[in-house]
Amino acid sequence: MFREQEIRQGEVQVAVPEQVDAWLIYIGRIHTPWTSRMECPRQGRHDGPLCRIEIFSPWVQGLQDVGLYERLEVLYWLDHSRRDLILQSPKSDGTTRGVFSIRSPVRPNPIATSIVQFERIEGNMLYVRGMDCLDGTPLLDIKPDRTLFSPLAAAQPGDFQVGD
Ligand code: SAM
Repeated sequence: MFREQEIRQGEVQVAVPEQVDAWLIYIGRIHTPWTSRMECPRQGRHDGPLCRIEIFSPWVQGLQDVGLYERLEVLYWLDHSRRDLILQSPKSDGTTRGVFSIRSPVRPNPIATSIVQFERIEGNMLYVRGMDCLDGTPLLDIKPDRTLFSPLAAAQPGDFQVGD
C-alpha cells in the first residue's frame, strides 16, 4: 500500500501535530535495488538481494563486533510515508484496521524494522539480506536480533513493577 493523499472508504485521517518530541539522528542510509514503492517488497526475505547499509561518520566504529551475529535487527525511517491515517484499509475493500494492528508504512512515526541476515562488513558498509525499503532510506539503528537473547531474567528485588 502506498499513497500520497488518497483516503479509502472507512479510513480515518487525523491532523498531525507540528511539535517534535524526539531528536532522532540519521546514522546512515540503506542502499537497495528498489527505487519505487511499486516494486519494493512488503517484507524482506533472507534470500532477497544483497543490500548495503552505509554508516555515516562518526558512527562507523559502532560496527565493531556486529559480525558476531548472523541476524541483526535494522531500524529505519520510512521518510516518504504519510503519517495521518489511524484507521486504514490495507485491502482497499472498506474494511479498516487500527494502525497499531498492522505493519503498514503509514504510521504516526514511520519507524520500520527488519530482521536481516549478516553478510559482511567493508569499511563503513554493512552488507545484509532481508531489507524491504527504498534506496536511500535513512537508518536509525542496528541491534542484534532480540530472539538470539535468552528470555528476560526473573524480576530481582528492587526491580520496579507496574503499579509501584
Ligand atoms: N519491515 C518493516 C516493518 O515491518 O516494520 C517495513 C514494512 S512496510 C510494509 C514496507 C513497505 O514500506 C514497502 O513495501 C514500501 O511500500 C514502503 N517503503 C519502503 N521504503 C519506504 C520509504 N523510505 N518511505 C516510505 N515508504 C517506504
